[in-house]
Formats: sequence, structure tokens, C-alpha cells
Amino acid sequence: MTEASRNQQLLARSLHAVWHPCTQMKHHEHLPLVPIQRGEGVWLYDMDGKAYLDAVSSWWVNLFGHNHPRIKAAISQQMDQLEHVILAGFTHEPVVQLSERLAALTGLGHCFYASDGASATEIALKMSFHYWRNLGLAQGKPSAKTGFISLQNSYHGETLGALSVTDVAIFKDTYASLLRQSIQIPSPDWRLAEAGESAEAYALRCAQALETHLQQHHATTAAVIVEPLVQCAAGMGMYHEAYLQRLRALCDQYEVHLIADEIAVGFGRTGTLFACEQAGIRPDFLCLSKGITGGYLPLSVCLTTDAIYQAFYDDSTARGFLHSHSYTGNALACSAALATLDIFAEEDVIARNHDKAAAMNVQLQALQDLPIHHLRQRGMIWAFDVASTHPDFSRQFYLEAMQHGLILRPIGNTVYFMPPYCITPDEMSTLVDHTAQILRKLG
Ligand SMILES: *Cc1c(COP(=O)(O)O)cnc(C)c1O
Repeated sequence: MTEASRNQQLLARSLHAVWHPCTQMKHHEHLPLVPIQRGEGVWLYDMDGKAYLDAVSSWWVNLFGHNHPRIKAAISQQMDQLEHVILAGFTHEPVVQLSERLAALTGLGHCFYASDGASATEIALKMSFHYWRNLGLAQGKPSAKTGFISLQNSYHGETLGALSVTDVAIFKDTYASLLRQSIQIPSPDWRLAEAGESAEAYALRCAQALETHLQQHHATTAAVIVEPLVQCAAGMGMYHEAYLQRLRALCDQYEVHLIADEIAVGFGRTGTLFACEQAGIRPDFLCLSKGITGGYLPLSVCLTTDAIYQAFYDDSTARGFLHSHSYTGNALACSAALATLDIFAEEDVIARNHDKAAAMNVQLQALQDLPIHHLRQRGMIWAFDVASTHPDFSRQFYLEAMQHGLILRPIGNTVYFMPPYCITPDEMSTLVDHTAQILRKLG
């Protein structure tokens, strides 16, 4: 059987049996699925051997490239010891080590695990709510702090609780009647600033809007949840770290929890190991997933403080956090996360990314004469908005990019690059050159 026909057969079987995520399946009548056989570094290869530069890091999860020897070795070593054990009533070395190391890196001493980002959001929301409930019980008066606040255009996952604090219409509107109400406050995304207003001035103006809201509603608010520095799913909306500093101060002042959803921006993506570091703040809850295993295995964690942990520590079972997922603290996933932390610690990733980002910024000057605006960068994320009137710009761009051997999935009219950190200068110039060609063609 020829490769081409193997390809075609696999596509047909996939469309028959697999319901693909975030997809109107009927579009695949015209938009071909791409069968990927293997990966190496920033490259993915289809079954005909055609190479694609994975400029979206396989949906923002891959950090150091595909087929990474160190992460593979860690998982396979762990596989010889223990693949998984129930984490209620039992423990194991990888989960303990990972928790200790994450605590040392974040200053948050208690790690609660799940397998995907949305579940980490759910855990943070439930823990915050439950903390205020426990506090109320201890004081003999029920707590009214049950509400959540998020930013406009925020994305925190798509399970019902996480979707309740998400503000992306295409994911949310259909399910509106299933969702709990939450409050959305102005986003500090600097694209929304007035003409002539600095990113910082705009961020502080948004913080002022939050303060006005909290003045009136703090007594019924459990937590504010934000994506620190970059609202990725909103189209890489970037904002000034002054917002996070004001947010931290306001949450302290009004006794409201601060939940930092670093599911997309954690693990070096914005130029520091965690984005909150750039504002010098510590959240009450930190949600991590995506890059945590270097893109190898599903794992997420919600970290929190001693003070919050202590509010659950009691003789009463019901005051405990009775939340669980079957694969909580999976040993293989923890071993991949430990290898990921080793790579950060021993291979100078953050400093090397800094140099790579500077090189990429120089290359991007090649796009200057094209009809793009709001060219922006934070760490290893680049984005710009395209002044296209094409009704289906995002899909057209995606198709053109695939022809050029690039995996790029614009969000609306925003084209972004979020490559694995192992990308080389040559691969960057391939990415930029071909992007320029596509932009010229789509006009
Ligand atoms: C991807 C993402 C999530 C959800 O993670 P899943 O693993 O897809 O459930 C939540 N928050 C942010 C900021 C994300 O980017």
C-alpha cells in the first residue's frame, strides 16, 4: 500500500471515529485533517514525510521540542518503577518531589493535582469558595463570599465552572443558560487603551475600575481570577505588570482571593519561570498545566498558601477538600514534570530564551511594511493583528501556512507565534519569511 493511500485511509478512519476538539466537523469535508506520524525538535512530520514547523507548540504545551531525550528517559525510567497509584491514602516519590520543588519555586506550599487545565481552574474556584465557607462556619455566620470576578476576554477552560469565568463568546454563548453568573471587569490588554495612553496608564485605569467594583461588592466576592500578563486565547492580549501589582494590593485590602491562571503563561513562556514574578507578586492560588510536563503527558496543579490550607485542616470531614480525579498525581506525568524542572535548572533556559527573543525581534522587522498592527512580544510569545477584510482570514491563513510547512492557527485576525524554546535562528527566519509571503498573498 502506498504512503498516500495510508494517509487517506487514516484520515477517513479519523473522521469516522474521532470527534476532533474545537472543530465543526463538517468543515473537514473541505479542510483536510493532517496525519502526524512523528516529531523532532520544532518539527512534526506527516505520513508522507512532509515537515511542519510547530509554531503553536502543539496548542501551547510543548516547551523544549518533540522527541526530547531527557523527558523521554525520565518517563521510561519511572515506567520501570511505578506507572500510577491512587493518591488518596497513598503517595510516591515523584509527586512528593514535584510538590516540594514547585513550592520552593512559587512560595506556595500545598499542591493539589488534576490532569488538565480546566480542572485546575475548577479546583481553585471550589477551594476559594470552600475557604470562605469554612471561615464562616468557624465564626458561626454563613459566608456571603460566593462570587467570582474575571477579566473581559478571559479564558480559563471549558468545563462548566471554568467556562463560567471565561469570557470568549464563541465558547460560552451556547452554554450561557448552564453557567453560573460571574462578573467581568475591563481587561488591561493594551490594544484597548485610548490613543496616546501608555500601557501602564491604561492598566492602572483598569485597576481603578476593579477597585470601584470591589468597594461595593467585596463582601460577596470570593476571588478574582486572571491570566497574568498575557490573555492568550483572547488573541495574545498583553498587558502591563502594574495591573498585577494593583490587583494584589486590592485583593489584600478587600479580602478577596487572587487566582493566577498561569496554565498557558507558566514555565518560561513570558520570559520568567512564572509570569507573576515580573510583577513581584504571589497569588493565593496558582493554576499550572500545559508546559508543566514539557508537552508530554496531561498534568495540572493548583497551588495554594498555608493560610488557605489551614482553613480546611480540621476534625470535620466536610471541612476537608473532598475533590478528586482518577489520575491525580500520576507518577509518569510527575516524572516528566520533574525532568522539565531539571532542564530549566540545568540548561539556562530562561537566559537563552531571552537571547532568542531578541534575535526573533530583529527578524520580525521584515514584517514592518506589511498591513499589520499591534506587533507585540512577551518572552517567547509574538503576535500581531492583520488588517484583513477577508471574511475567513483565520482559516485561509492556516491553510496557506500548512502549504508552507508552518503550523499557525490565527485567533480571529491575530497571527501569533508560540514556538518550542528549542527553535533555532534558521528556523525563526523560515517562520518569519514564510509568514511574510503568506501575508503578501492574502493581502
Ligand atoms: C488552555 C488553558 C486552560 C484550560 O486548559 P485545558 O487543559 O485545555 O483544560 C485554562 N486557562 C488558560 C489560560 C489556558 O490557556
